[in-house]
Amino acid sequence: MRLIIFGPPGAGKGTQAKKVAEHFGIIHLSTGKMFRDAINEGTELGKLVKSIIDDGLLVPDQTVVDMVEETIANEDYSKGYIVDGFPRTVEQAVAFDNLLERRNESVDAFISLYATDEELIQRLLTRGEGRSDDTEDKIKTRLEVYKKETAPVIEHYQQAGMLRSVDGTGSVDEIFQRILSALPKR
Ligand code: ADP
Repeated sequence: MRLIIFGPPGAGKGTQAKKVAEHFGIIHLSTGKMFRDAINEGTELGKLVKSIIDDGLLVPDQTVVDMVEETIANEDYSKGYIVDGFPRTVEQAVAFDNLLERRNESVDAFISLYATDEELIQRLLTRGEGRSDDTEDKIKTRLEVYKKETAPVIEHYQQAGMLRSVDGTGSVDEIFQRILSALPKR
């Protein structure tokens, strides 16, 4: 099974992706986490993306697409995965379609988590993960970038008939149950 979990910063993608991955025995692929790990390890990639991420901006499409391509080529990913944080632009979505097509694979569902801006800002300010991009001005930038560059990705998957919208407010378990009910039955 291959899934995409999508939503604005603070929607709870990471938390839910982890639970979904455990439930189905698939891998949780978070592009944001991969970048943060690269920064912490001081790799070339980490050096390249550090200031971009700290500013709340998007890493260039090609950099992200190459990283995802390399990652899913790994044997561990053959059983399935849930992608969190990607695709984040329509260009990335198109590149991902092409990549999967070359691999003779497809995505089973695109789960879109939604919440109000007030809720998102509140959660980001209080989640206390100590992330350098969780300050008030960076959160504002990230939400703006989301609206302008990322939100159009929803339409891309809606047109492909894969969109499953899920209310991202409530308890972690409530949201998780909603996600499970929204998934295509197999
Ligand atoms: P959030 O959804 O809370 O913003 P993420 O961990 O998904 O957190 O992403 C953190 C940052 O990593 C983003 O603000 C962006 O700079 C970078 N990033 C992650 N995924 C992508 C992507 N697919 N394209 C471009 N930049 C990305």
